[in-house]
Amino acid sequence: MTAVLASNNAHKLEEIRAMLGDKFGHVCSLAEVNIHTDIDETGTTFEENAFIKAQTIFDMLGGRYAVLADDSGLCVEALGGAPGVYSARYAGEPCDDAKNNALLLDNLHELEKTAPKNRNAYFASVVAAVLPDGRKISGEGRVFGTILDEYRGNGGFGYDPLFYCTELGKTFGQAEMSEKNTVSHRARAIAALREKL
Ligand code: IMP
Repeated sequence: MTAVLASNNAHKLEEIRAMLGDKFGHVCSLAEVNIHTDIDETGTTFEENAFIKAQTIFDMLGGRYAVLADDSGLCVEALGGAPGVYSARYAGEPCDDAKNNALLLDNLHELEKTAPKNRNAYFASVVAAVLPDGRKISGEGRVFGTILDEYRGNGGFGYDPLFYCTELGKTFGQAEMSEKNTVSHRARAIAALREKL
């Protein structure tokens, strides 16, 4: 069975091929099936957004292929779970990692003027699959850590330089990609989906 990943992100494609390749004959990108569309992420949870993306592409392809989609973000305890599903566009659009990180620190510092410091946070990812036999299944993964006051490391993307991963003992920005993949929320979500396939 061929599966389509509702994304053109090369890293996600590589990770999904490596972990689910034996479950599907081939996993292709959106570009490979000639879809060049932006899907509005109107859901309020990672799971809702992942299924909105998977179902939209599944319908566009006439139900012929399995479709996989993921949604992820950073949840900070002291901010009530923000930026959450708004992680990519926390500081507004167009999406800008540097502005998102700066706003995250500003909001934490503002809060800490009146509340005790609590930097607990986790990354969450949901990977959803809509299958031609009608099944809709998903897996969720999380990785826990804390938000630092200073940026450490030049690797990764998004909030990686501010996210100190408890299990790795360093920020995701300081970790090699292969090392991050051993604990990452996305790898865990794919593994959870794999169990159900
Ligand atoms: P998406 O699910 O790929 O759209 O990711 C949503 C946003 O969450 C990204 O733009 C990043 O801001 C943030 N994010 C998700 N996963 C990671 C990660 O592994 N490291 C850093 N930021 C992440």
